[in-house]
Amino acid sequence: MSLRDRIESLQARLQRACEATGRDSSSLELLPVSKKQPLSLIREAAALGFSRFGENYVQEGADKAAAAPDLRFVLLGPLQRNKAKPALQHFEEIQSLDRPDLAERLRRLAEELDLVRPVWIQVDLWDEATKLGGCTEADLPALIQSLGGDRRLPLRGLMAIPPPGDEAAFAQVAGLRERLQQDLGRPLRLSMGMSGDLEAAIAAGSDQIRIGTAFFGERSY
Ligand SMILES: *Cc1c(COP(=O)(O)O)cnc(C)c1O
Repeated sequence: MSLRDRIESLQARLQRACEATGRDSSSLELLPVSKKQPLSLIREAAALGFSRFGENYVQEGADKAAAAPDLRFVLLGPLQRNKAKPALQHFEEIQSLDRPDLAERLRRLAEELDLVRPVWIQVDLWDEATKLGGCTEADLPALIQSLGGDRRLPLRGLMAIPPPGDEAAFAQVAGLRERLQQDLGRPLRLSMGMSGDLEAAIAAGSDQIRIGTAFFGERSY
């Protein structure tokens, strides 16, 4: 299937999912996830009107960002403190903020580099140690506190990757968002939903879905 055809069928699927829950599809952002996809395919997507892409690995995303300065990249994958600098330099947003020591490091570097980078907090829904990262619900207040309303790292929202099949987790994150919005007195966005579970995420009120395989096809690169 060509990229154009795959995107068209994805958009039809999004439209159906929005209609099924009475949502306007313009309220939903589609973020294509280009990890392990070649730059040539990303360029094809750009020619079809997409200009922002999610990447998981700092080095891979930084290489693509350097080769394609006209495109913008968002970091979705786990971030180590020692990669904080290239992450700030090459990505316009960081969605995988999950602990205060990382927030502290990003803050200091953003000040030094004179950059502003919106961040999203990744919420851990797995109740067990995984390599996915994320902040548990119990640790969220301390993490938000550590951001301290910093103008260098404005908090945009919550990102989550629920365990496969655990669609109740989407409602849990939506509830968390409600409570945090009340506490902070301002809106937060929700980034949840991938190729396999976007319908459930949209039904639960996700604002952004991050789509890899249903957009670009299988990862091969
Ligand atoms: C890979 C990835 C996606 C996209 O996954 P697909 O199942 O291919 O749509 C979305 N979010 C994150 C954090 C990812 O790592």
